[in-house]
Amino acid sequence: MNNIIDGKLISSVIKTKLKNDIELYRINPKLVVIQVGDNSASNIYVRNKKRACEEVGILFDKIKFPDTISEEMIIEEIKRLNDDDEVNGIIVQLPLPKGLNAARIINHIDPLKDVDGLTYQNVGNLVLDNDGLISCTPLGIMELLSAYNVELESKNVVIVGRSNLVGKPLIQLFLKENATVSVCHSKSYDIKKYTKLADILVVAAGHPNLITKDMVKDDVVVIDVGINKEEGTLCGDVDFDEVSKKAALITPVPGGVGPMTVACLLKNVFKAYKMQKGIENE
Ligand code: NAP
Repeated sequence: MNNIIDGKLISSVIKTKLKNDIELYRINPKLVVIQVGDNSASNIYVRNKKRACEEVGILFDKIKFPDTISEEMIIEEIKRLNDDDEVNGIIVQLPLPKGLNAARIINHIDPLKDVDGLTYQNVGNLVLDNDGLISCTPLGIMELLSAYNVELESKNVVIVGRSNLVGKPLIQLFLKENATVSVCHSKSYDIKKYTKLADILVVAAGHPNLITKDMVKDDVVVIDVGINKEEGTLCGDVDFDEVSKKAALITPVPGGVGPMTVACLLKNVFKAYKMQKGIENE
């Protein structure tokens, strides 16, 4: 039986639907990415976002600043983009160079254009179950689980990692689905004690081979968010070869969560457009 979750396939289904919807509405949503400095990983991520936007008919613009730019100048640019009716989504590509306060900068983005779901307003919306824009990777994970009909209600979900970008929003999303959620982090003692109980295990720590086969039970569903490079090859946080022998379902790296993150960013831009224009979400 094939137990590999195909993130590429599910993301392409999402993108095709989005492309059709954008054509149907005859609209041109626009995403602007602000990049500061010349981080090589960021260059790749921004290029991927541009390519994905072009695939579905979303306009894309990149504003690149040198790492000597001041916080105030970035905030001025954000204010200009907030006021520009042609711009529907704004992203500040992370990480920012040292010395810049990312939280302060991001919180100047209009929450209706905050397609990364990182402003206080959107984080609050998520916690309080209000409609808003939600961080793309957690959203992509929920879409994958739904596409594979994974039952969540009353299941034990264990999340390894508690970042603002991945772990914390996931806690809320799983709670909303009536799962029982445990969260492990770098100060957790003996994470195996928790991972062994997981019906659904999400790992977002950034450590290759953190999760080995002795740490999971049979028929677990494993979502590996990690992106690591080992000897020039991409890998996740899970020992895929061994854990996949026990898992009911498992995401590969690459080809699992990564493509879903980009697809959900595009979905967020479309959603942001509709929220700004007062169009009902289906
Ligand atoms: P992050 O901000 O560095 O957070 C990592 C989290 O993992 C922290 O909460 C940390 O605990 C925890 N952690 C670290 N080592 C651990 C250990 N040995 N045992 C248990 N917990 C541990 O990273 P992130 O932004 O969430 O990203 C995590 C990974 O996912 C990275 O590899 C990143 O590249 C990848 N990622 C992939 C996508 C995608 O689209 N596929 C998107 C985002 C991120 P503390 O809080 O105690 O420090």
